[in-house]
Amino acid sequence: MMFMTKMMIEIRNLLQKVGQSSTVTLPAIVVIGSQSSGKSSVLEAIVGHEFLPKGTNMITRRPIELTLVNDPEARVDYAEFPDLGLTKITDFSLIQKNLMELNQSVPESECVSDDPIHLTIHSPRVPDLSLIDLPGYIQVAGENQPRELKRKISELCDKYIRGPNIILAISAADVDLANSTALQASRRVDPRGERTIGVITKMDLVDPEKGAAILSDRQYPLRLGYVGVISKLPVGGGLFKRDTGNVLSIISRNEKSFFNAHPAQFGPEAGVNIGTITLRKKLMQVLEQQMSSKLQATTDAIQRELEETTYQFKVQYNEEPMTAEAYLAASLDDFKHLFHKFASTFGRPQMQTLLKNALDQRVLDQLAARYWNKPLDDLSVAPHEPENIADLPKADPKSPYWHMQLDMASSALTRLGVGRLATTVVSQAIQTDVEKLINKSAFSKHPSARQVISEASSTVLADRAYTTSDGIEFSLKPYKYEVDIHQQEWSQGRDHVAEVLKGELDQCQTAMKNLENTVGGRKKLKEVMTFVDRARKGDIIIEGESRNGAGGFSAALLARGREAVFLRDRADIINMRMMAVKSRQCKGLENKYYCPEVFLDAVATKLTQTAVLFLNVEMLNDFYARFPREVESKLGELMLGGGLERFAQEDSRIRRHLDLIKRKELLELVLAKIEGLNRLNEHVGGPREGF
Ligand code: GDP
Repeated sequence: MMFMTKMMIEIRNLLQKVGQSSTVTLPAIVVIGSQSSGKSSVLEAIVGHEFLPKGTNMITRRPIELTLVNDPEARVDYAEFPDLGLTKITDFSLIQKNLMELNQSVPESECVSDDPIHLTIHSPRVPDLSLIDLPGYIQVAGENQPRELKRKISELCDKYIRGPNIILAISAADVDLANSTALQASRRVDPRGERTIGVITKMDLVDPEKGAAILSDRQYPLRLGYVGVISKLPVGGGLFKRDTGNVLSIISRNEKSFFNAHPAQFGPEAGVNIGTITLRKKLMQVLEQQMSSKLQATTDAIQRELEETTYQFKVQYNEEPMTAEAYLAASLDDFKHLFHKFASTFGRPQMQTLLKNALDQRVLDQLAARYWNKPLDDLSVAPHEPENIADLPKADPKSPYWHMQLDMASSALTRLGVGRLATTVVSQAIQTDVEKLINKSAFSKHPSARQVISEASSTVLADRAYTTSDGIEFSLKPYKYEVDIHQQEWSQGRDHVAEVLKGELDQCQTAMKNLENTVGGRKKLKEVMTFVDRARKGDIIIEGESRNGAGGFSAALLARGREAVFLRDRADIINMRMMAVKSRQCKGLENKYYCPEVFLDAVATKLTQTAVLFLNVEMLNDFYARFPREVESKLGELMLGGGLERFAQEDSRIRRHLDLIKRKELLELVLAKIEGLNRLNEHVGGPREGF
């Protein structure tokens, strides 16, 4: 009842998918033989096609798990590599090429791999069989073959020839059976010869008497017996030779003419098994018989495994269902939720602060370049003379020089490219926040999803950057000619810039502290600073200061000293200007030439307000509307072509959960199939040839 074999092979293949850890399986036929014993020829004769890679230096490096499916509906023979997603390959030279490539994917250093290649061949002319082709045993290691290879092949074969698998031991007739590596290996694991079929190839190469004697071998008896074959194709084989599709009929015709020519040795009376057709029939019978006999034990084992899996599912996951789709949907929801929370806290006030902070720096730069460089005496008091502060400021408000300075500073500020600065500062802030959101979300564990979301954000932001920046510049145009400040704006600017100056002062002090620490204390730094000051005033002449420094100070120390002197002077100036800003004279905007700090701050605030109005409409609202859609669409693309599975598997917690569910479902499916098989078995009787 060949349909049973088909179903059992299906069950076997399903069980393979349950996972490496599972030991529950049904038997397959494992093909072993030494190199050149004719192993490939026998397999190809059974399949009826040339499909195995051949060549002088060709060594099979991975097992090939070959499933033959008798498919009466198939109009042409075709093959599939399920692991590669390759289906309906009708060109058998392509299979040869694929096998060759898969074989070569094993690095030389590893010699062989036990990761099998799965190959399925459908044809109305093949029987249902599950065959495993293993690397051929090496008799004598070749010069350019690693010494390890021989041992590793042996180990790999040993792993597969364990029970309950059936061993197809290939030996050539022209080699003494006592020297057959295949039979030696089989005897180690199956000493009573209960699950080994002997195949004797190259029957045409020995005297018929001798050939017949081998087949009725008494020295190494096998319960399943020996079959003699001649599987050499009459026309020379070769790499990628065009496939005739008719290999078996040619071979069997060839065999018939040879065996019929020697009726005394091979005729019906002789009682020996001969021919590839006979071998195929035997394989089918033995496989079905062996599979059926193991079915009950396998069913029991599957049931136990299912119970264990169900138990684990309950204990570890509280029977919670999980799919890759559900995980993605939950992750996306979670991310969107985080994003909405962010969106509700990031708006105009936040952009205002960001841009104003950036402009504060530019204001400080302008002040440093135009006002705080010495001599300052004209604008206000000299440093170190606090008694003069009451007189602040001294500058003549009618002096055209100070008018020009302020106009230039204000103009530099309005023309520095606020549009560009604003879009950049806000884009960067949003991008940084998006990265933070990703880190907080489930996507943090998924590198490719992270990248997609991050890119979605930068793309949407970049899309609007140019028009936004342009729009801002346009709206700021009037300020480039005149900025009108009101008293209230002036007062706010005064308060704010005092804070900015205070912050700048703090930074100077922190930098000074750091310098003290690096040189080894405040005293030491003071000594160097005094030296630098005196040298600057010309009290002492530093002659030929070199890499070795001067005045007993190293060059590095002197550099620190100069830095410290700069910081001190800057702090002095800032201190003085802070007092100026806070003084009575800077209270009203009529004194703007005395108080450039306040005026420039007020200008910066005006620029910021106008820019933010634009940013909000042109960039932020657009981002909030488009970013979630963009994320969804780009993630959708990422999930195509097996991407969803890969995504879910990246999270080890989800992977374990999914694996357990898959295992449970597979085991349930297998049990259902076995049940179906048993039912069929009860109702359908009598043999049925599948092909
Ligand atoms: P493998 O290395 O065990 O896979 O052996 P192959 O199937 O590649 O065969 C090795 C060589 O023996 C090839 O040149 C085949 O053509 C040849 N060969 C295989 N079977 C027979 C046979 O039955 N008779 C003869 N004369 N040669 C054979």
